[in-house]
Amino acid sequence: MDNNIIANLADVRRRISLACKSSGRNPTEVRLLLATKTVAAEQIRLALQQGEMLIGENKVQELRYKFDELSDIVHEKHFIGHLQSNKIKDVIRYGVTCIESLDNIELAGKVNQYMEKLGKTMDVLIQVNTSGEDSKFGIAPADALELVREVSNLKHLRVRGLMTIGLFSSEMKLVRRCFTLLRSIQQEIRSKAIAGVDMKELSMGMSGDLETAIAEGATIVRVGTAIFGRRIHPDSYYWNENP
Ligand SMILES: *Cc1c(COP(=O)(O)O)cnc(C)c1O
Repeated sequence: MDNNIIANLADVRRRISLACKSSGRNPTEVRLLLATKTVAAEQIRLALQQGEMLIGENKVQELRYKFDELSDIVHEKHFIGHLQSNKIKDVIRYGVTCIESLDNIELAGKVNQYMEKLGKTMDVLIQVNTSGEDSKFGIAPADALELVREVSNLKHLRVRGLMTIGLFSSEMKLVRRCFTLLRSIQQEIRSKAIAGVDMKELSMGMSGDLETAIAEGATIVRVGTAIFGRRIHPDSYYWNENP
């Protein structure tokens, strides 16, 4: 599958640029995040060598071993998986610059504590469960504003926007509703002008639905399969508590 990475990447870039064109958006507004769970460092390297800059990992174990293997190539790392509080230290140590999957105040408080000790700040996105599927993490849409307010009081975290995983469905109309909802939550939060909160980022859209997400205002699309090929486990495996 690695032979295809370069061609696949070109294809994904083409999809992004077409989607931007048809929704009248500037392609520079949309960043591609390589979703690299289970992908070997050498394959990630190939994509980075094509000029990509941003990767997203779901598991601390993978962050750890790729940290050394990719230490010689410039890139940025986001955390996009379920974060257990005993792993926070590692996420920081292995160079994550943004936790996209923050969905509760307890975790936020603990990350804040670590960052305070280091005298640094961490960017975070609030993950919202827009599909209502209970297999997914994320705060309920109705509670997102309150969580943003609480997190805004933590001096060592900086809220940069929202993240969601769209409904798993081939019916794009239903998937689109998730993205529309995330955008409307973004606008509602923006209208409150909460001090220290910046609602710039909307991280939404994956291999199967990135065009729809871009049409709804995505600023980060997270793409794995369309670039690196299929993974051996279904996504629920990576999104739940499995090691
Ligand atoms: C795996 C993953 C993606 C990418 O999914 P693909 O369908 O492989 O593009 C995006 N976001 C999250 C949170 C993921 O875990």
